[in-house]
Amino acid sequence: YRGIAENVDSKIQNSLSRKAPVAKEDIEAVARLYNEAKEVSKELNARRHLQSLVGEKIRKAENDEERTRARTEASTLKQDVQRLQTSLQTIEQTYQQLALHIPNDTHPQTPIGPEPSAKVVAHYGPEPRPVDPRRDHVGIAKALDLLDLESGATVTGSSWYFLKNEAALLEMALSNYSLSVAIKHGFTPVTTPDVVRSDIAVRCGFQPRDNTDTPVSHMYHIVPNHESAPQLILSGTAEIPLAGMFADKIHPEGSLPLKYVGIGHAFRQEAGARSADTRGLYRVHQFTKVELFGVSTEAQSESLMEELKAIQIEILQGLNLPFRVLDMPSEELGASAYRKYDMEAWMPGRGSWGEVTSLSNCTDYQARRLHIRYRPQEKKEGDSRLPFAHTLNGTGAAIPRLIVALLENGAILNEGGEVQGLRLPAVLKPFFLAPSNNRIN
Ligand code: AMP
Repeated sequence: YRGIAENVDSKIQNSLSRKAPVAKEDIEAVARLYNEAKEVSKELNARRHLQSLVGEKIRKAENDEERTRARTEASTLKQDVQRLQTSLQTIEQTYQQLALHIPNDTHPQTPIGPEPSAKVVAHYGPEPRPVDPRRDHVGIAKALDLLDLESGATVTGSSWYFLKNEAALLEMALSNYSLSVAIKHGFTPVTTPDVVRSDIAVRCGFQPRDNTDTPVSHMYHIVPNHESAPQLILSGTAEIPLAGMFADKIHPEGSLPLKYVGIGHAFRQEAGARSADTRGLYRVHQFTKVELFGVSTEAQSESLMEELKAIQIEILQGLNLPFRVLDMPSEELGASAYRKYDMEAWMPGRGSWGEVTSLSNCTDYQARRLHIRYRPQEKKEGDSRLPFAHTLNGTGAAIPRLIVALLENGAILNEGGEVQGLRLPAVLKPFFLAPSNNRIN
């Protein structure tokens, strides 16, 4: 909070450039309340000091009058301390609540602006195929009996689905393949809870964009079955349980960077999604996701980000997809990212590049809110505080999007444009539970 109080103008400028849902007045209020809290805290300490002396005064009083005066003083001090404590708590809670909406700082090289300002930094994979509506993944999936959207709609609703036959096995093969790449690079595999406390999500930087009192409005909320039950949500990403795994802990510096790869399910309400996106598997309400997660020191986080990026590139290159890497602009960073790289695969049936991965360096933004700290090997002279760690998260594999890209790029069409089969990347073969049929190989 000191950082905010001392840099109000740059924090306001940064929030504006990110179009963050926080008012200028709120940032100013955080600074004002933080300084006020410092004053109250000083006053409180002074009264506590006097309290520590007044006992002695009572003991040493030489007559009743002095004793009574000292006792009155003690009682006044007690009331003052209680009042100041309550006031300090209220002030702190107010500015902490307001500060939740202030976004992370932004990397100096991040492009400023909305989504189209993203900077393409690299291209990989084969030459993109020409746009071809016959390569639409929904049609291909239908022809090969890989997807049942109708039953998904009956059982749950639109944008819910059943993967069938090779597609069901493909989900597992893609998960295991991407896990295997991360494990090869020293990542610890974990399965994560899909249900999380909403306050953990808020502390990760997921907040309502509106001012409702429902936290994390784009996630599904579980109705508590009794009054004292915690507020739970279906996690929108394994980033939340993974970040929460390290919360309220102090890590020895020598153990950093910590590298984890989680597998979980992501649940998203996707209210207001463009209708073209909700076709088929592109934007669905539930999907399996393999997630890379890192915890590092400040000095390590930029290179760890490059390491995560290299793993994402390796995974997508193995799948032989045409894809590009984007340095995402300020308005696309959400609350927590300091810098973000997205990767987009070419989808000839959709006729566009489609985001398949996202990678964020959240620096100490989540760590401050989740209390993830580390104990430095060498202490800084005169500074007894423990530094906050940096956290990073990146998609290892978001399964449905990869299936879209694999179907649209790998479908075998005859001259008339009819689907004959599907060619899948060789790296997936060892991860298929059962041999593919002769149309899909
Ligand atoms: P995010 O956590 O929002 O950065 O998403 C991570 C990745 O999940 C994205 O890069 C997409 O590939 C994928 N994804 C996001 N939302 C959806 C969705 N509703 N349906 C399918 N895939 C999604």
